[in-house]
Amino acid sequence: MEHKFIPFALPDIGEEEIAEVVDALRSGWITTGPKTKRFEQDFSSVFDAVTESIAVNSATAGLHIALEAVGISSGDEVITTPYTFTATAEVVRYLGAHPVFVDIDPNTLNIDQTKIEAAITSKTKAIIPVHFAGLACDMTEILRIARKHNLKVIEDAAHALPTRYQGKLIGDLESDAAVFSFYATKTITTGEGGMVVTRNPDIAARCRMMRLHGISRDAFDRYTSTKPSWHYEVVAPGFKYNMTDLAAAMGIHQLKKAWPFQKRRQAMAERYDRELAGFPIKFPPHAAHEDMHAWHLYVIQLQSNAGMQRDRFIEEMSQRGIGCSVHFIPLHLHPYWRDTYKLKPEDFPNALAVYQSAVSLPLYTKMTDEDQSRVVRAIREIIS
Ligand SMILES: *Cc1c(COP(=O)(O)O)cnc(C)c1O
Repeated sequence: MEHKFIPFALPDIGEEEIAEVVDALRSGWITTGPKTKRFEQDFSSVFDAVTESIAVNSATAGLHIALEAVGISSGDEVITTPYTFTATAEVVRYLGAHPVFVDIDPNTLNIDQTKIEAAITSKTKAIIPVHFAGLACDMTEILRIARKHNLKVIEDAAHALPTRYQGKLIGDLESDAAVFSFYATKTITTGEGGMVVTRNPDIAARCRMMRLHGISRDAFDRYTSTKPSWHYEVVAPGFKYNMTDLAAAMGIHQLKKAWPFQKRRQAMAERYDRELAGFPIKFPPHAAHEDMHAWHLYVIQLQSNAGMQRDRFIEEMSQRGIGCSVHFIPLHLHPYWRDTYKLKPEDFPNALAVYQSAVSLPLYTKMTDEDQSRVVRAIREIIS
C-alpha cells in the first residue's frame, strides 16, 4: 500500500534559507532593508542587460506598478492571453484599462503572436506576454509588433525563472519590464514575493517609488541617508507593495538554487516524456535546443482516445494519493471576465480545448524518483 500523498507542487527550502531568515529576525530589521537590497543586487547580477531589480510582495503587485510606470491608464487597452492566472488581467483593471484577449497557439499554449495585430486598436497601449509553464513566447515577433505599433511590453515572467530565449534570459530581452513571481508554488519562492526587472532607469525609479506609498526615497535610504531620518516626501498616491527582509532572506538562497532546480525539473520532465511515451497524451512542448524551459509546470493534455475525461482522471489520481492541478481555467470562462467583456467560451477555441484536457502533473524538486515512478504507474493504470 502506498500512503504518502504526493502534492502537485511543494517548496524546496534548505537550512541556508532558514538560517538567513533567523538572521533577519535576530537583526531587528525585518521589513525592507539590507536583505532586500542584497536580493535585488543578486537578482540583477544574473542578467546582462537588467539595470535594476525592484523587489515587491507579489508578482501581481509588480505587474501593477510596471504597467503604471509605463503609463497605462483609464480606457487604455492591453493585449494578453486568456490562458493565464487572473492576476495578469486583473492588474490592467486596477488602472481602469481593459484587457483584450488573444487566443493561444495550441502547440505552445502561449499567446498566438500571429493573431496579435488584428486585436490592436487606437486604444491599445501594451502587450503582456505570459511565458506559460516557463516556455518563452515568440518574443522576436511580439517585440517587432510592439515596436511597429508603439506599444509597451511588460512580460509576465511568473513562470520563467530561469527561461532562456534565443540565447538570452527572460529579463534580458528588449521589453519594458519583466515580472517574476516567488509565490509558494513557483520555481523559486519567498512565500509571497515578486521582482520587477528593467533596463529602463525611469521605469525602475517609478516602480521603486510606487511600491512604497509614492515616497520619493524608500525606507532603507531614509535610514541611511544624511538627511534627517524623519524626512520624506510623498509625490504620488503609491501602494504598499514592498518586500520584507524575511522574504528576501529566503530569496537570496533560493536564487542561487534556481539553476540546479531547473536542471532537476527538466530531468523530471524528460522522464515523464520517456515513460509515458505511447500513451494517449499530448506532451508539453520543449524549448528549442539552445534555449531553456523553466519547467515550472508539466502540463499534459489527455487525448480523446484516452477513454477518460480530464476531471475523472484527476479524481482517479487523487484516489491513488497523487495531487494534480489544472493550469489554467481560461479567464474568459470566469464570471467576472465573461460578464464584463461579454465573452463566450467559443471566442477562444484553442484556450478552451486545451483547458478541457489539461492536467498539471506533480513536478517539484523535492519529489523523489520513487514518487515520480508512482505517478507514472498511476497514469499507466488509469488510462490503459
Ligand atoms: C502566479 C502567477 C501570477 C501572480 O504571482 P503572485 O506572485 O502570486 O502575485 C501572475 N501570473 C501568472 C501567470 C502566475 O502564474
